[in-house]
Amino acid sequence: MLDSIKKIFSGTEEDIKPKSSKADIPREKSALLFEKAKKYFPGGVNSPVRAFKSVYGTPLFIERGDGCFLWDADGNQFIDFCCSWGPLILGHNNPKIKEAVVAALEHGLSFGAPTALENELAELILKNNKYIEKLRFVSSGTEAVMSAIRLARGYTGRDKIIKFEGCYHGHSDSLLVKAGSGLVTFGETSSLGVPKSFAEDTIVIALDDKEALTAAFEQFKGEIAAVIIEGVPANNGLLLQDKAYIQFLREITQANGSILIFDEVITGFRLGFEGAAAYYDIKPDIITYGKIIGGGMPVGAYGSSAEIMMHISPDGGVYQAGTLSGNPVAMAAGIAQLSELNKAGFYKELNKKASEFVASIRRYADAKNYKVKIFNIASIFWIAFTDKENIKAATDIAHESMDKYKILHRELLNRGIYLGPSGYEVGFVSSAHSKIELEKAKRAIFESLDVVFK
Ligand SMILES: *Cc1c(COP(=O)(O)O)cnc(C)c1O
Repeated sequence: MLDSIKKIFSGTEEDIKPKSSKADIPREKSALLFEKAKKYFPGGVNSPVRAFKSVYGTPLFIERGDGCFLWDADGNQFIDFCCSWGPLILGHNNPKIKEAVVAALEHGLSFGAPTALENELAELILKNNKYIEKLRFVSSGTEAVMSAIRLARGYTGRDKIIKFEGCYHGHSDSLLVKAGSGLVTFGETSSLGVPKSFAEDTIVIALDDKEALTAAFEQFKGEIAAVIIEGVPANNGLLLQDKAYIQFLREITQANGSILIFDEVITGFRLGFEGAAAYYDIKPDIITYGKIIGGGMPVGAYGSSAEIMMHISPDGGVYQAGTLSGNPVAMAAGIAQLSELNKAGFYKELNKKASEFVASIRRYADAKNYKVKIFNIASIFWIAFTDKENIKAATDIAHESMDKYKILHRELLNRGIYLGPSGYEVGFVSSAHSKIELEKAKRAIFESLDVVFK
C-alpha cells in the first residue's frame, strides 16, 4: 500500500483510536478512486455527505448492488441499510424495475414531449391517494419543494414561510436557512451564497413548540404563505412528532389562510402508499415527493387540489418547467416500483419485519444497559446514543453522541453492514432484506454495540 493511501485509508493517528476489534476492511481501490475523484469534484464527491467526513476512513466506491447487498471496489460485501438514502424500498437491482427500465429505453431516452408513461404513473398515484388531485413531475426532491414553495407564495400572494429546525427540504435558497437566537426570529442563512433577503422571508422555529408557532403567526399576521414540515422529520435524526402537534399545524395554518406543505420526499410511499398524510389522517394543502417515487431514477413531484394546482403554468401564473421532467425511463422505473408497493399487504409485511428487527436490537441494548435508543416508524429506524425516551426537536440531540456513532459505523463496516455515514442519518429496511440477512445484521449490531460501550 502506498504511504499516502495508507494515510487516507486509516485516517490520522487520532482517527484510528480506538482500535477496531476486527480487522479493517480493505479499502485500497476505494482510496485510489477517491484520490482521483478529489481532482475532479469538490471534496471528491457529488453530494457532501458521501465524503465520509463524520465517520472513519475514505468513502467506499460502490460497484454494484443486488437485493439488500452492496459490493464496493475492493470486493467487500455489505448488507445495505442506506438504500440510496431511501429510494430503494425494494432493494437494489429489483428485476421488475430493471425490466421496465430496459423496455422503456428501447424506445429512446428523452423526448421533451408528453408520453403515456407520465399518465400511467400519475394515475397510479392519484387513484390511490385521497390527499391530492393533481400533480406535477420534476427531477428531484429539491426541485419539488422549491416549486411547492413558489406555488404557495403565488397562490397566497404572500412571501414568508415557516420551517422547522431539524427539517431538511433540499438545497433551494429559501430553505437553506437555520434558526437565529430567540423564540421567533428571522433565520440565518446556513450556506454561503444565500442572500440575506431570502433568510428574511424564512422564519425558523423549533419542532414540537406550539407557543413559538403561535407567536410567529401573531408577529407576521397575514404574511405567512406556508408552513413546511417533513411528513416525519427524518433528516436530522428521526424526530417523531405527536399527531396533536401536526393537527395544531393544520388548524393554525387554516385559521391564518396559510398553506400547509408536507414534505414527503422521505415519508411518501414509505410510511404507506399515501405517506404521512394517511399516517396522521391529516390533509395538508400541498405534498412533495421524491426518493421512492422514481424507483431509483431521478424523479420528484408535488401535488395538491385541482384548485391550487390550477395556478401552475401553463394554466396559471406560477412558472415551473423542466427539460427532463417526466422522463420516460424514470417514469417506467417509478411505475414498476409503485405497482409493487400498491399490492395488498406490502407495507404490513415490510413494517412488521422492520419493527421486529428494531425490537430485538432494543432488547439487547436494554439488557446490557447501553445508553442507546432505536427510534422507529414503519421501515425507517434511527440509532441514537441517548437515554432520552423521546427526541422531538433538533436541540435534543447531543452532538457528542456522534462520537459513538462513528465507532459503531466502522465496526459495522468491518462486519459487513453499511449504514449512512453520519449519526444524524436514518436507516431503511427494504423488502429485499430477508430474515437471514436481518439476523446477521442484528448480530453484527450487537457485537458492534459491545465495542462502542466497552
Ligand atoms: C432528500 C430530501 C429532499 C431533497 O431531495 P433531493 O432529491 O436530494 O433533491 C427534500 N426533502 C426531504 C424531506 C428529503 O428527505
